[in-house]
Amino acid sequence: MNIRLFKPSFGDEELTAVQGCFDRSWVGLGNNVNEFEKQWKEKLGCEEAIALNSATAALHLALACMKLPKGSKVLVNALTFASSATAILYNDLVPVFVDSDPETLGMSFEDLQAKYTDDCSAIVVVHYSGHPSPVDKIVPWAKEKGIKVVEDCAHTTGPMYKGKRLGLWGDIGCYSFEEKKLMTTGDGGMLCSNDSELVKDMKALRWVGIDKDNWKTAQKYTDNSVDSMHWFYEISVLGFKYNMNDLAASIGLVQLAKLDQMNQNRSGTIRKYVDGLVSSKTVKPMLPYNPEDFVYQVFAVRTKYKHELILFLKEHGVATGCHYTPLTMQPLFEKYEGECPIAEAAYEELVTLPLHSDLTDEEVNYVIEKLLEFDAKYS
Ligand SMILES: *Cc1c(COP(=O)(O)O)cnc(C)c1O
Repeated sequence: MNIRLFKPSFGDEELTAVQGCFDRSWVGLGNNVNEFEKQWKEKLGCEEAIALNSATAALHLALACMKLPKGSKVLVNALTFASSATAILYNDLVPVFVDSDPETLGMSFEDLQAKYTDDCSAIVVVHYSGHPSPVDKIVPWAKEKGIKVVEDCAHTTGPMYKGKRLGLWGDIGCYSFEEKKLMTTGDGGMLCSNDSELVKDMKALRWVGIDKDNWKTAQKYTDNSVDSMHWFYEISVLGFKYNMNDLAASIGLVQLAKLDQMNQNRSGTIRKYVDGLVSSKTVKPMLPYNPEDFVYQVFAVRTKYKHELILFLKEHGVATGCHYTPLTMQPLFEKYEGECPIAEAAYEELVTLPLHSDLTDEEVNYVIEKLLEFDAKYS
């Protein structure tokens, strides 16, 4: 056996879609990107969806468009991928790390309240591993304080949570299509919002300040000769080179059509893992997984024998990982505020197991068998 931790799921359909771009000789920002955005908007039921080349770019621009006071503080989960917090630094803002809820390991609402100070201007809340952080409490609380909320949805594709989709609770939601995520475009991301005014410059921000749709408003240049001005654009904001391209979007359109099925496969795998581990004493599911209601990018277990389990599974051809080293423990972030003892203690016990939509029953059963074998040795 040789079982991968993550794996994108591709078929001939993706190749055909890419071939279509080659045949049209159009691989840059184009109509596939528009179509992909349109379909995401429909899928989530949101007002705005802007396709970017990563979720990291989405997080950067989400905070940028909020025009937060330089040097103000942004509260963010400690147990997350680097980008959730590097986006804060890109904007000359200061991260304050919020500890995990001991059960779900998502953002702790209690610790969020405890870490809040008057110079906080926003929250980046991560739906860690796909399990909802309590945005039903966080968002109304943030509104009361007058601070913005960005949802980092890199581990989810926006299922319903208490009547609203994950990613649409806050002001902006950021999704990832990196190769290990729930669906992929190679690299890619989507920024979603119901606040059209807030994200009105987003198309310019993603393409070095150019928003071709705005050129029509530039009366002063175009009055004399509209027809000869097809090349015209106006730059009025400092933008970045963060757009998605048509090659990536063509893959995204196919992946989006398969997403429900891929998510169902992953949920089935998680259900098997959870059921398979019921009798285990030393290896326990990391969270109270609810794969019937939510989608998960990561499946992990907690064990006192982390290193032993990783070596044991390695020996038997099962890949493992650890998501994540809390950012409070990373050299870049050590100097920032926010003690997070729960996240740091959880990290000592976390082992990520294989989860992707092409895992076979045979492979999942094999991993469970090995976990139970390990448990028998250590309990
Ligand atoms: C993967 C990930 C990101 C960044 O996504 P990219 O599309 O690779 O930039 C951000 N936040 C979290 C929690 C992630 O796991």
